[in-house]
Amino acid sequence: MPSHYDHAQVQEFWQYVWERDDVYELPDDATDPTYVLGMFPYTSGTLHMGHVRNYAITDAYARYRRMCGDDVLHPMGWDAFGLPAENAAYERASDPESWTKACIRRMREELETLGFGYDWSREITTCEPEYYRWNQWLFKRLYEAGLVEYEAATVNWCPDCETVLADAQVDERDDDRICWRCDTPVEQRELDQWFFTITEYAEELHDGLEDLEGWPEGVREIQRNWIGRQEGAKIGFELSTPVTGDDEGDEPNGAIDAVDVFSTRPETIYGATYLAVSPGHDLARALADRTDDVADYVETVRERGPDEVGFSGVETDVTAVHPLTGAELPVYVAGYVLEDVGTGAVMGVPGHNERDHGFALEHDLPIERVVVSGTEDDTAGDETLEDEPYTGEGILEGSGEYDGLESERARDRLVADHDAIQADVTYRLRDWLISRQRYWGTPIPVVHCEDCGHVLVPDEELPVELPEFVRTTGNPLEEHDSFRHTTCPECGGPARRETDTMDTFVDSSWYFLRFLSPDLAEAPFDAERADEWLPIDVYVGGDEHAILHLLYIRFMTRALADIGLIEKREPVERLVSQGTVLYDGEKMSTSKGNVVAPLEYGAETTRLFVLSAAHPEQDFEWTANNVRGAYDLQQNLYRMATEFVEAADTRVERRNHDEYIAREIDRTIVAVTEEYERFRFHRVATEIRELARLLRRYLAYDRPHDEVYRHGLLTLAALISPMAPHLGEELWNKLRGEGLVVEADWPEPRTEPSNYASERRLVERTLEDVRDIVDVADIDEPQRIELVVAPAWTYRVAAVLTEEADGDVNVPSVVDRVSVGDLETPSRETVATVVGTLLDRASKGGMDQPLTFDDERTLLERARWLVADEFGADVVVRCAEGSETTKARPGKPAIRID
Ligand SMILES: [Zn+2]
Ligand SMILES: [Zn+2]
Repeated sequence: MPSHYDHAQVQEFWQYVWERDDVYELPDDATDPTYVLGMFPYTSGTLHMGHVRNYAITDAYARYRRMCGDDVLHPMGWDAFGLPAENAAYERASDPESWTKACIRRMREELETLGFGYDWSREITTCEPEYYRWNQWLFKRLYEAGLVEYEAATVNWCPDCETVLADAQVDERDDDRICWRCDTPVEQRELDQWFFTITEYAEELHDGLEDLEGWPEGVREIQRNWIGRQEGAKIGFELSTPVTGDDEGDEPNGAIDAVDVFSTRPETIYGATYLAVSPGHDLARALADRTDDVADYVETVRERGPDEVGFSGVETDVTAVHPLTGAELPVYVAGYVLEDVGTGAVMGVPGHNERDHGFALEHDLPIERVVVSGTEDDTAGDETLEDEPYTGEGILEGSGEYDGLESERARDRLVADHDAIQADVTYRLRDWLISRQRYWGTPIPVVHCEDCGHVLVPDEELPVELPEFVRTTGNPLEEHDSFRHTTCPECGGPARRETDTMDTFVDSSWYFLRFLSPDLAEAPFDAERADEWLPIDVYVGGDEHAILHLLYIRFMTRALADIGLIEKREPVERLVSQGTVLYDGEKMSTSKGNVVAPLEYGAETTRLFVLSAAHPEQDFEWTANNVRGAYDLQQNLYRMATEFVEAADTRVERRNHDEYIAREIDRTIVAVTEEYERFRFHRVATEIRELARLLRRYLAYDRPHDEVYRHGLLTLAALISPMAPHLGEELWNKLRGEGLVVEADWPEPRTEPSNYASERRLVERTLEDVRDIVDVADIDEPQRIELVVAPAWTYRVAAVLTEEADGDVNVPSVVDRVSVGDLETPSRETVATVVGTLLDRASKGGMDQPLTFDDERTLLERARWLVADEFGADVVVRCAEGSETTKARPGKPAIRID
């Protein structure tokens, strides 16, 4: 039998056994299983190291929970729609479906090779009609609930991908706005588009973050900023003359006679010197109908995009009335005012707002001061505002009856005093644009009819299936006459089928629900099961998903709840946001050519390494040296088990040092369990390494106790199996000869584990002290080492001090409590001295949860073999006598070396 562990030799066997025994399959009648999910992969070709890390984390945790006795739902599926498949197919003269399916086959094989324990009976693939019909069905339900809009909108357009991009798919780089996929500068276009009105949930999505205690604060903060809640006020400005556009229908409510602006600083209202509306604002549209220069300007901004036009703008022929002073203010159409932020209009306060200041300089508008820095008692003499605005809080001036008030108080007073100023909250979040002018996505289930407008495809005609792929640079669906031309479900007349497909983030916004009942034909998911099985207990994925995917699943869950399909409103209880695997300090990427293939080092070594290298949320560097460490750990454990089974020369009667080992096994179980709970797999690996090292030393020291040693090896097998499952089975099989570790019970400590950390530290510290003394006293070969335990009463002192650790310690009262009627107790002076030294040690952080006298003495008895082994001396543990009583302390035995 080889004592070398060869993962490749055994993986297929164990994978076969796991599958044969259905160990990962979750029965549908499971009661509230633990739902562990990794973000399903985009089917881009092959797995990369980020995937391996992601799925190694979920797999280790799922296996751990399963051994703890939970029913575990740990499914896998494929995020299979999207542009790259279409591009790849275009380049290879293939079609997206064949290309995607080939990717899935390859990636599934890789996942299986890595030994991840998925319930494959629940596999889902988003590009299959059985899946995407439910995207269409859900689109319809959202539509009926008023959460879908069809609107002309200025959208981000990537000329290279020939598609619309969501705001979050546009990257800002060096003042350029570029496509997240191909780095092409993004243009602006006006198109009729489908939106999910996620903004209706802005407040709830924002406030709900507060309660997501299982999410990393970083992710919550990114979402908070993305939603962009702003408090302020809505202020109404009447126009001097109402405006009516030529184009009827544009203003269904007739003439525009007022403009509402939103401001986060309503107290600066006396400093308003102009009004500006965005080019998309109703007023701008109405004015464009009758004024050429407004029309030209609106067109320019539309073509070039708001970021390209700086502080340009055009003055209109209308004026607005300041609601407090009655002054007439000029009204501009300005590109720097964004249509979908606030009300799409601002009051220009150049003295106290950066952007308004920039605009005012450009257009020679007055800059007025209405806030000075300082407090009500002490205002500073501020410099001129010509160079830069003053944007801080301060004291009002030039503001009529509000002069001399602090800005915050002025704000409240203004809102209370004037009907035209109303407290308001606005959000930066915009509606979710889901239209894509591409082929490889879910067809939007709508037909456009001349007579009936846009009509939803009836449920019984779903799914609207994708026709065959055709190669074109545009939208392939536009090229399919048989797809495009259809009949109207309402009037039976000729109609045009919608050729936009859905953003693939729609597919992934609810996929975690489909896993609950992947084959259900009547509904997207089993609602009763969703109420019981949700939320996802642990969700793991890359931190780049903080805003898109992780916001969309929160929105979708709420929308489904409001439609009445589920009860829960938050989909994920605990989120683990995994860090990046680096190579030479950079993220691994094919374009940089610094990729390590997942299987290059052997599947199990790779999994074990990515888990043991760092905390899941941290980045770490891939180095061959550290990979070696993961490899060696497996080999060591395997060799130990093999040698034990083949040639163990063991003992039956138990000795003191066996008890130490037995206890250390318990201590390791407790520590490892804690680390698994907290996803600190790297510390699990360290614990396992250390116990293995101790067991090897134990074996070398003396013939091992048969049961103790076997128990140690079995415990190691169980503890490592969530991270290295094939190795776990091999070890288990060797040592027990029956059963599967994957189905074994999680090891339980056999003794009360509460003080294990103090115990470990006592032993470590004692060893260090011995080393120090041997070193300082320059003792060559110590013959005899005595570990002298402090008298029993000193442990009572330590216990009393621990009880009183929170307050100020009153030394006489401690002495009283320790000294009560006990013959063994020495004089009050001696007790006071000990209290003093213990307090001194506590102040230096040297005190642990104290052990009792008996526990400490027993522990040292059991651990003394470590000292004997290290120094080759006789080691004796005894109680302090005479003058030694002032040297030995609880947690710190005195040491005598001869
Ligand atoms: Zn692009
Ligand atoms: Zn019709």
